[in-house]
Amino acid sequence: MTDQKHTGDVELDPSDEVEGEYDDGAGGFTIVEWDGSQPPEDSVDACQGEGDIFEGGATAAKRGWGPGWPHCQTAMMRTVVVNDTLKLSVHRDIAPLVWLLCSRTESKGYALRSGQCWGFACRCIRNSDEPSNHSWGLAVDLNSLANPMGSTLVTDMPSWVPQLWKEFGFRWGGSYQGRKDAMHFEYMGSKVEATSVVKSLVDKPAGRSGRMPRGASGLPPGHVYGPDAGNRASWHDGSESAQTANAVEAISNAVPGAARTRRYTVELQASVKAWQRAAKADGSDVRTDGVVDDDTWQALVRLCRRRVRASGVPSPRP
Ligand SMILES: [Zn+2]
Repeated sequence: MTDQKHTGDVELDPSDEVEGEYDDGAGGFTIVEWDGSQPPEDSVDACQGEGDIFEGGATAAKRGWGPGWPHCQTAMMRTVVVNDTLKLSVHRDIAPLVWLLCSRTESKGYALRSGQCWGFACRCIRNSDEPSNHSWGLAVDLNSLANPMGSTLVTDMPSWVPQLWKEFGFRWGGSYQGRKDAMHFEYMGSKVEATSVVKSLVDKPAGRSGRMPRGASGLPPGHVYGPDAGNRASWHDGSESAQTANAVEAISNAVPGAARTRRYTVELQASVKAWQRAAKADGSDVRTDGVVDDDTWQALVRLCRRRVRASGVPSPRP
């Protein structure tokens, strides 16, 4: 249950458990059960430390998210592990989205600093008795020191950061009319919209082209996947396993034109070989024998990543 490693393909049906490793080709992210952490409070007043603005009638509860503070749904929280020192806890139905946005934010050049980023917090809005979006796990605070709350906007974020998050349905606290809260991003979509956005990120109508191998942080060193005949679709010890079948399925999902399979058939080998030749002609340093080693695996991960990126940024809001 905890920290389960997925070696199969990504099928982000939000009704499934979302815990697992995800790979963006740049280090990877993991979603685990909520680690129980909440932001530090600098006051005994439970309603201190939050700047988001309550808009009457627009609460997350009315968008299908159920109750927030003080009846916080801790069972719905999951922790997105960005790296060893940076974790964000959010509602499970936006966890893959937050993972993706953190990934894009960092890969585009804005680093997220540990100790300055938080998500879920069971609290109300400062100076009010209205629940904060943090209390639903629908808000995150990013790089709090350089993006403090105050009457004037103070931020070190390039404009593309709030723009990127906005495209996925997150409102930026830096654009509040009154008090500015530049560290703060809150998901403004409904639960139904979140489900559909997360699904659209990885499950394009065109088929499997948007899916990314999960657990693709690399094969064991020296390990290869190849045709059944050579008994190479196996791990180090030569034994067949569910992990092997999942990995083979991920490969078949990723390779253009390949039929989905959990056994490394000669047909899959032919598809891999055809793709490897094209990839090599395109400059990738991969073998061309239809066997998937670490180089080919990583090239497939990069391919999937490009597909996800090319699939566009689905906007949950018109
Ligand atoms: Zn906040």
